[in-house]
Amino acid sequence: MLSTNDVRAVIIIGGGPAGYTAALYAARANLNPLVIEGFQWGGQLMITSDVENYPGYPDGILGPEMMQEFRRQAERFGAEFVTDDVTAVDFSEQPFRLWVGDDEYLAETVIVATGATARKLGLESEIAFQGRGVTYCAVCDAAFYGGKEVIVVGGGDSAMEEAIFLTKFASKVTVVHRRDEFRASPIMLDRARANEKIEFVTNAVIDEVLGDGAMRGVRLRSTVEDSTWELPADGLFVAIGHDPTTSLFLDQLEHDEAGYLVTAPGSTATNVDGVFAVGDVVDHTYRQAVTAAGSGCMGALDAERYLAAREGHPGTALTAPRPEAAEV
Ligand code: NAP
Repeated sequence: MLSTNDVRAVIIIGGGPAGYTAALYAARANLNPLVIEGFQWGGQLMITSDVENYPGYPDGILGPEMMQEFRRQAERFGAEFVTDDVTAVDFSEQPFRLWVGDDEYLAETVIVATGATARKLGLESEIAFQGRGVTYCAVCDAAFYGGKEVIVVGGGDSAMEEAIFLTKFASKVTVVHRRDEFRASPIMLDRARANEKIEFVTNAVIDEVLGDGAMRGVRLRSTVEDSTWELPADGLFVAIGHDPTTSLFLDQLEHDEAGYLVTAPGSTATNVDGVFAVGDVVDHTYRQAVTAAGSGCMGALDAERYLAAREGHPGTALTAPRPEAAEV
């Protein structure tokens, strides 16, 4: 039974691949972790259809199903869950304090795994076609567009990288950008421009995603004159950046200009002793489920070692189990 008065050895904030993997490892180290997983638990994989690039699933798995399995595996070893959002934290002294509305939770270590979200265009039709033509990850979904025509929206490095990657599958890739100057680095832009499968439409935004059942194209709107036109396509890859979910932590944890949390090199330790950060909340480079899961594992091991180093910690005697045959 959950009690908000206990001081937990580990509280994990966030229920995505990083948070659940941290929970699995912390649970198997007998640290009885509590995962405050968010009201909309599961993270970005909940809006992904087939995941075909996670090792161990040669036939692919649906994103939401995969997150259920991650969660179930952590639960099997004793992780407990609060399916709600953390509303405030105080990392200024031990034990750390976290609130979910009026409920207060106390923890000796906290693993922040709140992730990031892909920026959306903000169109109703974008949401309607999400997972049925509209996607936010070329690495995840490009293979579904073999021989098809697709659009990438955005003018940064992500858009160029996704467009170039998509040319391995799609017959034609049109990059749509709202200005005629690009935020992308010159080298990435030159590489995209040199690719004969890539076309550019500048000074235009997506006005609406079109289709009935399946997506069949978009309506574009000029940003410099009063005109709209249609562009046929089977897929729309939105690559207009990501935002880390860090507003709760910005005044307490070190972060970069974009709001991503900063950890010590080769570690998940933040600037506050006992607070660790894992997954997409620190990573704007790789952003894959498998890298997030690996980072979650690191966070749990770091938290476990931190606790073990504190004399008299009740979990100390139980931590650092010997590797078993089934454990890798
Ligand atoms: P970004 O640099 O912030 O670029 C976002 C792009 O999306 C901008 O061109 C922006 O247009 C456009 N945009 C934003 N909101 C939009 C909207 N509502 N409608 C239409 N367009 C919109 O983001 P990013 O490309 O994801 O890159 C993030 C960081 O990661 C950068 O530092 C980047 O260099 C780095 N990165 C590096 C690599 C690499 O080196 N291989 C790959 C990917 C990312 P405006 O330009 O008009 O604002």
